[in-house]
Amino acid sequence: MRIVKSTKQMQKLALQWRQQGKSVGFVPTMGALHDGHLSLICKAHQKNDITVVSVFVNPLQFGPKEDFNKYPRTLLQDKKLCEQSGCDVLFIPSVDDFYGDDFQTTVTAGALGELLEGASRPGHFDGVCTVVLKLLQQTLPTVLYLGQKDYQQACILKQMVSDLNLPLKVQVLPIVREKDGLAMSSRNRYLSSHQREQALLLHKTLKEMRRRLVLGERQAAVLKRRTKAQISATQGIQLDYVECLDASSMAPLKRLKGAVVILIAAKVGKTRLIDNIRLNVP
Ligand code: AMP
Repeated sequence: MRIVKSTKQMQKLALQWRQQGKSVGFVPTMGALHDGHLSLICKAHQKNDITVVSVFVNPLQFGPKEDFNKYPRTLLQDKKLCEQSGCDVLFIPSVDDFYGDDFQTTVTAGALGELLEGASRPGHFDGVCTVVLKLLQQTLPTVLYLGQKDYQQACILKQMVSDLNLPLKVQVLPIVREKDGLAMSSRNRYLSSHQREQALLLHKTLKEMRRRLVLGERQAAVLKRRTKAQISATQGIQLDYVECLDASSMAPLKRLKGAVVILIAAKVGKTRLIDNIRLNVP
């Protein structure tokens, strides 16, 4: 595995691969890698000639009161895991090299970027779109691999790829969970063992909503009410949102039908966690 730190060097390599007709799978990450990230890297490795993984904690997508400074950085371990998972190039640019002194141009995510995560984290998706577009220009991939864990992010990035005519495919892979159901996240390491137990409530309530759908409940308001009540009865967890949306447009649904995604976000102590399930409602 090769390690590339310079953005210029990365783009030079990518142009060579393109000339050689090689397919490139690209997995953008912020590091602190876990099995969720590794599932994307393994898939990229299976399907492409070259696999590139970036580890870059992007200051542009963190709000002023968010955890940019304390976001976990575990580069030594990340290197090992990348190598074991079939990564060919690990791209780890510095913030200075990546944005330079005179950086001015950004991408605006549009309407989808204002909802849910975007409502709680203003500017977050503009930062995500900007960093991902730059990373795509530096790595020139054939396929961009994303996780369903960040459902809204994946929708917004698919929209960007389509709106800006970027010549690549986007592949979204399922959420990888701990044995007990907790969605893997780099932020899980902030949780104390008590909070880790409480965090299970996110997936539990999603499963409960799915169960009630299977039993015939179709009203979003009814499904959401129960979840809200359950979470507000638990000390230490603060629900941000639970929403039932059309899985492709992310439009809110009153009555659940067809391809649906249920998304949830909550703060457990100071740690903000997100989770979702996608299902087909007959
Ligand atoms: P992050 O490092 O959190 O920016 O995530 C990098 C990529 O890994 C994103 O496409 C995420 O959606 C994906 N990812 C994060 N956690 C998981 C998970 N538990 N399962 C699958 N993909 C994930």
